[in-house]
This record gives sequence, C-alpha cells and structure tokens, in this order.
Amino acid sequence: MKLKQTLLAFAIMGACTLTAQAQLKINTKTIGSAAKAVQAATLSNEDVVAYTKEYITWMDENNPVAPANDELAKRLANLTKGLSSYDGLQLNFKVYLVRDVNAFACADGSVRVCAGLLQAMSDNEVLGVIGHEIGHVKNQDSKDAFRTALLTSALKEGVSSQGGTAAALSDSQLGEVSEKIANMSFSRKQESQADDYGYKFLKDNNVNPWYMSMAFERLVELSGGGAEAGFTKKLFSSHPDTQKRVAEMAKKAEKDGFKKPE
Ligand SMILES: [Zn+2]
Repeated sequence: MKLKQTLLAFAIMGACTLTAQAQLKINTKTIGSAAKAVQAATLSNEDVVAYTKEYITWMDENNPVAPANDELAKRLANLTKGLSSYDGLQLNFKVYLVRDVNAFACADGSVRVCAGLLQAMSDNEVLGVIGHEIGHVKNQDSKDAFRTALLTSALKEGVSSQGGTAAALSDSQLGEVSEKIANMSFSRKQESQADDYGYKFLKDNNVNPWYMSMAFERLVELSGGGAEAGFTKKLFSSHPDTQKRVAEMAKKAEKDGFKKPE
C-alpha cells in the first residue's frame, strides 16, 4: 500500500506523538457550533472539550480516514473490540492512511492511529501505545496542552472584544492551534506517568504488559535507520529517554511476575 504523508500536524493531545513531515492544511471553512462565547479567563474544561470535538471533526475531514473495509481499519476495529469505553471515557477509533508512525488521543475520547504505526507494530504493541495516549488524556496533559494552545493562538485576542458573542474558530485559527501544539512536548514526568497508565491499560485488557516496553523497543529499532527513520525522528525527539523507558517498563513487568513474550 502506498501511503500519503500526513496532511496535518498531529496536534491536539498528541503533543507527545507528533508527526515528522507534517504540513498544515489551512482553508477558510469556519467551524462552529461548539465554539461558543468564551473568555480566556473563563475557558472551562467543557469549553476545551467542545473545541476538541470541533478539532477532531476537522482532522477527520482533512486526513485520509481508512474506510471500514480497509484491512488496517478492520485490524484496528478488531484489536479494539470491546473498548468502546475505558476509565470513564467514551472511545472511538479511526485509522489515518498516512505513513507516520504515530497515534494520538483527544479529550473527547477520539483515538486516531496512523497506518505507519499499525504496520510497524504488533496488535498488542499498538494497544500499548493507545493506552499511553489515553493516559495523557486521563492525566489532563492533553487538555492542558490544548488549552494553552487555544489561549496563546486562536483565542489570544480574547473573545470579549467581540462583545462576548460567538468565538467560532476558522480553519486558519485551527491551523495556528495545531502548529502551536506541534511545537509543544510533554515533560519527562508526564510521559512516564502516561507509560504507567498504558501499562495498567494493557493489564486491564488482559494483555501482557511487557508489550508496553516492547512497543518502545520497536520505536528504538525504527529510529535506527531505513526509509521510515525520518518518520519516527520527531516522535523520538519529543519522547526523550526512550531507552530508559523501555527498561523501566520491562523492570515493572518483571517485578509483577510477567514473562516476556517470545
Ligand atoms: Zn506521550
């Protein structure tokens, strides 16, 4: 399968898993219903989630979403069967047919996995990455990053200047937001906590948590060279100390008495 590169910076929520080679797609379409009157100082969690929903809709419209009969879409549907909700979050999954070794989750429970990641990893490793991304959502990292991006780009002028009425985001504003997020990264501590979350996520889903360590190991391998190396570089630069994380997750699995799968 020949895959396109991602059209968009994998903004939201995926500050930890940004694409290399991303290009922002900007047009003039206005999005809207969720973008209600908001003042920077009073941007509530609900507002942030509402903007997130508008954003993921926009992402899905602007990225090549795999149709239901696509092999990778079927594979993702299969491996996430029974995962319509987890830890209070209503989840929905889609595959983007792009080469990036990447995935992200949003505050509204949307999880998007790139074809490149599915092709590079086994089902259980992909689940580990999904668990890690959901961890960023549950730990509020995603929301905080998105809020910061909104307040320092699209909403920086404040909506009060518009008389407190609608603050619909245009596509160019969304482009600005995604660019902002593309330049953010989570802290080592946030990453480490998301790893722990992913580990528990695997256990909760009756998957050997060794796969958390193995997923990162796969990333280390991929960054080693080959045509796809460029696509994992960015993922890496924002995931510092990956080797250390491989070791930490392996140690945890060992301590918990799990045997490394062959
Ligand atoms: Zn992360």
